[in-house]
Amino acid sequence: APAPPPPRHHFSDPAEVETLRGNLLAWYDRCKRDLPWRALAATEPDPDRRGYAVWVSEIMLQQTQVATVIDYYNRWMQKWPTLQALAQASLEEVNELWAGLGYYSRGKRLQEAARKVVSELAGHMPRTAEDLQKLLPGVGRYTAGAIASISYGQATGVVDGNVIRVLCRLRCIGADSSSPAVIDQLWDMANALVDRSRPGDFNQALMELGATVCVPKAPLCGECPVKQHCQARHRVSVGPESTVTLVFAGVGDCPLCPPATEPWDSNLGVTNFPRKAAKKQPRAMRTATCVLERRGSHGALEYLIVQRPCSGLLAGLWEFPSLPLAEDLQEKKEREVLADHLQAWIGQPVAAKGLQRIGEVTHIFSHIHQTYVVYSLPLDGDMTLAPASSPSRWVTEEEFHASAVSTAMKKVLE
Ligand code: SF4
Repeated sequence: APAPPPPRHHFSDPAEVETLRGNLLAWYDRCKRDLPWRALAATEPDPDRRGYAVWVSEIMLQQTQVATVIDYYNRWMQKWPTLQALAQASLEEVNELWAGLGYYSRGKRLQEAARKVVSELAGHMPRTAEDLQKLLPGVGRYTAGAIASISYGQATGVVDGNVIRVLCRLRCIGADSSSPAVIDQLWDMANALVDRSRPGDFNQALMELGATVCVPKAPLCGECPVKQHCQARHRVSVGPESTVTLVFAGVGDCPLCPPATEPWDSNLGVTNFPRKAAKKQPRAMRTATCVLERRGSHGALEYLIVQRPCSGLLAGLWEFPSLPLAEDLQEKKEREVLADHLQAWIGQPVAAKGLQRIGEVTHIFSHIHQTYVVYSLPLDGDMTLAPASSPSRWVTEEEFHASAVSTAMKKVLE
């Protein structure tokens, strides 16, 4: 059989682009998920509130599943239905609502940006992707494109993880999909493809396709509304394997084809795309943490929690007094440094041998593999101890769960 032509990495045929848009939008109209931010963006007459609603949803959706976000989103919009309401909230309130959603700096940045819109932009959201990205802290190219297209109808594309996967498959892009050269190409492609009359729906349709049909491991190609445009699928069905291998081994010096050193794997089919360079391993950290408990005035157990600094990892969240540990610290030394640290919080000497070592809890943050070495220290029942440092406070178990604490600290308490 003659070798198939090399993959076309671009959409150069206007008729094909028109058909693809039409097929994708028709599928979206039929199959889209009913999500609260979509309903709000479609019906809200106030453009600033429309932009705000999409913005909140997009920030929450970064790194977090749709199913998890829905409840947080509804509670957020109920509590702060407008930019003005959010601008008046305290960081503490924001962190409390965000608790459990992870990547806490997102909530903080959202609130800071809302304050900026209210104080510097007279409460009006910028209306173009360029201005959104330029004027709002924490709003990157993707979020700006999403808000501008969905809320304001700007014909601008978006590129997120789902779009990367779909476009790399549609056009057989097998070079490292996190490299700047490939990302630039994908943005150009997204901007060229976006439907001019329904840009917001088109962008959401492309992302929806990646989330529900063109999924990472077992894409449902048979049900895919754009399968006729998909070069990866075409290559799978074009066989024989030796020919496919030849084509996908990289065509000349093409910067978008898979590198010759990592040829097409016939077991993977369309999931040969996209390809990513190996991820950096998360950094390992050990932290000693101590659950100090006392009997409160009403007989209930209470725990001491302290607030983290207002910048850096888990900024402003509450935790049990904790101390990062140097590598290879012996347990005896570990107890001593923790006892000193606790003394600074409660203003009384703490005997290292009184600390009970309970066990270890691991938690993966985006780039840190954190191990908490958990200690407990019950204090005398009738002790009325005021923390020596602030911000810190004694809380019951119920209050603990209602506070702005990270998921990792909930695991520690468990
Ligand atoms: Fe993805 Fe398959 Fe559709 Fe191609 S045909 S875009 S691989 S779901």
